[in-house]
Amino acid sequence: MRDQLLLLLQLQTCDVKVRELDSASKQLPAKLDPLRRDLAKLEGMLAGERAKLAETDTWRKTQQDQIDRDREALKSAQSKLQQSKNSKEFGAASREVENKRKAINDREAELKKVTEVTAQSTTQLASRDADIQKLRDELAAGEAGMADQLAALAAQLAEAKLARDAARAQVDKQWVKTYDSLVGKRGYAVAPVIKGVCQGCHMALPPQLNNILARMESIETCPRCGRLVYRKDMVESPKDTKDEPPTAS
Ligand SMILES: [Zn+2]
Repeated sequence: MRDQLLLLLQLQTCDVKVRELDSASKQLPAKLDPLRRDLAKLEGMLAGERAKLAETDTWRKTQQDQIDRDREALKSAQSKLQQSKNSKEFGAASREVENKRKAINDREAELKKVTEVTAQSTTQLASRDADIQKLRDELAAGEAGMADQLAALAAQLAEAKLARDAARAQVDKQWVKTYDSLVGKRGYAVAPVIKGVCQGCHMALPPQLNNILARMESIETCPRCGRLVYRKDMVESPKDTKDEPPTAS
């Protein structure tokens, strides 16, 4: 019975390790999620700014075309002015020249303002681009480093599963069944008893049960939580597996 108990403990240690490694390798990829979110947000903002800038460029082009047309109109108004034969024609032509000049000046002033703002936006966009590139590099480096970590975890997990299967094969079928059912119900199956108290549920065991445990002739269950119990002072925990530092957290 002592052997079976030790084998059950070993199985439990192996199971814990498998579970730890399994959850570590599942949680690892999520660690880069905040970085991915930041990057996506910045990229979205940048795309919006680019679209706005493109719109402004189109607008500037139409304004420039309009100015070119106004200049042509100004030229023809000026030649009309030179050819005017009376004061009525002269008056009309000079008003037209004046209007066209004003229209051109106004449009050029507006265009100049917008061009200045656009230049600022373009500079900002370039610096944002640099920020985004930095984040992309960071993410790529993170993913590369993580690939190594994931591969290492996968190797450790495969090894731990082999050890677990080997441990399972050594335990009597009947106890494997009890063990599995307790793991399903309680999370883990084997609990130490320290100073007469079950460490699985923190209940003090009846003294006679505590004495039975000291004999190590049978595997007993805790009356409260149903876990398989053993006296910690009678059984040294299997050092070979227990003392290994946890490989992942
Ligand atoms: Zn208990």
